Amino acid sequence: MRFIRRWAERAQELLAAETDQALLRARKSGERIVAMLRLGLVVTFVLVTAFNPKEATRTAVLTEVGVSAIALAYAGLLFWWASRSTNPWLPWVSSALDVTVTSAGLAVFLVAGNPLGALNNRVLFEAYFFAIANSALRYDWRLCAFTTVFAGAQVLGLTGYAAMHWDLSKLRGPPEDFVAIRHTLRLVLLAAAGASAISVARWARHLRLMVGTDELTGLSQRRPFLERVEEQLTGKAQDRRILSLAVLDVDEFKKFNDAFGHLAGDRALQLLAERLRSAVRATDLVARFGGEEFVVAFPGMDVAQAEARVEHLRIKLAQVPIPVDGASQWLTVSAGVGSWPVDGETFTEVLAQADARLYEAKRRGRNCVVGPKPGSLDVLEGGRKG
Ligand code: GH3
Ligand code: MG
Ligand code: MG
Repeated sequence: MRFIRRWAERAQELLAAETDQALLRARKSGERIVAMLRLGLVVTFVLVTAFNPKEATRTAVLTEVGVSAIALAYAGLLFWWASRSTNPWLPWVSSALDVTVTSAGLAVFLVAGNPLGALNNRVLFEAYFFAIANSALRYDWRLCAFTTVFAGAQVLGLTGYAAMHWDLSKLRGPPEDFVAIRHTLRLVLLAAAGASAISVARWARHLRLMVGTDELTGLSQRRPFLERVEEQLTGKAQDRRILSLAVLDVDEFKKFNDAFGHLAGDRALQLLAERLRSAVRATDLVARFGGEEFVVAFPGMDVAQAEARVEHLRIKLAQVPIPVDGASQWLTVSAGVGSWPVDGETFTEVLAQADARLYEAKRRGRNCVVGPKPGSLDVLEGGRKG
C-alpha cells in the first residue's frame, strides 16, 4: 500500500507542471533557439536546392518553388510565434509539427509510387533526429518522450502503409534495396536519441534544482525563493495578492556551536529546517537565507494571520529535541514579521522591515515574535528558555 502511494506520488511529481522560474525561462529561450535553427535549416535547404544545377521540367521547377515557399512560411511563422508568445503549448505544437512535416515529406514519395524514396530516405529521416535533439532544448522530459514516440509511431505508420501496398522484400534500388533489419536499426537509433534527449532534460532539471537547494537542510536558497515570491507578487497584476514574510533566526546559536561542536550545530539546523517545513502549509515558501537564518513567505496571509502562524512555529521549533552526546538539547528562535503591501512596495522593503523586527525581537530578549506595530499588542512574548 505504501509502495503504491510512493509510486503515485512520484508519478504525480513527474507529471506536475513546471514551477521553477529559471527552467521556464530556459524553456522559452530554448523554443526561440529551436525556431532560429529551424528557419536557418529551411533557408539553407532552399538555397542549396535552388542553386543545385539540374535540368528540370517546368512542373519540377514549379513544385520546387511551391515546396520552398511552404517550408519558408512554416519556419517563418513558427519563428514569429516563438519570438512573441510564451504559450506553454508552443513547444508541443512545434515539436509535433516538425515530426509531422517530416513524415508528410516521406509520405509524398509513397503517394508518388516510390516506396524506397520514403523508406530509405536519409535526409528526411535525419530530420526526426533534429526534432528529437531540439526537444531537449525545452528542458521537459515529457516533451522529449512525446516527440520520440510520435516520430516512431509515424515511421511505423509509413512503413505499415508501404508494406500494405508493396512487397517490401522485393523492393530493389537504386539507390539501395529495402533491408528490414537496417530499417529496424534506424528505428532503434531513433529511440536511443529520444532516451538521450530525455536524460539531458531530466539532468538539466536536477542540476538546476540542486543549484537552488541548500545542501545541509534541503531548503530553497535565496534566489529561487525570491523568484517564487516575485511570481506571487506580480503574478496577477489586477488582483495583487496579500503576502506576509517572516525572518527567523536561531537564538544564541554560536554558544550552541561552541558548547556542542559544529557537527551538532549542523544536525540542529537540519532538524529545525525539517520541522519548519513540515509545520507550514504546502503553499508557503521556506528558504535558508544563510547561517542560522530562515525566511518563510505566507502567500494569501495578512500580517495578523502570519504573526499567529509564526508564533505557532516558534513554539513548535522550541520543542524539537536535538540529540547531543546521548542527551537532548533544545534551541529557540526569534522572528520578525512583515507584510506586503503595507510594509513596502517591493520584496526588499518588506524583508528589510521584517529584519528590523527580528532585531527588535533579539533586543527584547529573544524567543519571541515581533510584528508590524511596535506597540505592546503586536509582540507575542514566549517563555524564555534557560
Ligand atoms: P543571536 O541570538 O543574536 O542570533 O546569536 P547567535 O549566536 O545565533 O548569532 P551569531 O550571528 O553571533 O552567530 C551565528 C552562528 O551560527 C555563528 C556560526 O558559527 C553559526 N553557523 C552559521 N552557519 C552554520 C552552519 O551551517 N552550521 C553550524 N554548525 N553553524 C553555523
Ligand atoms: Mg542567531
Ligand atoms: Mg543570524
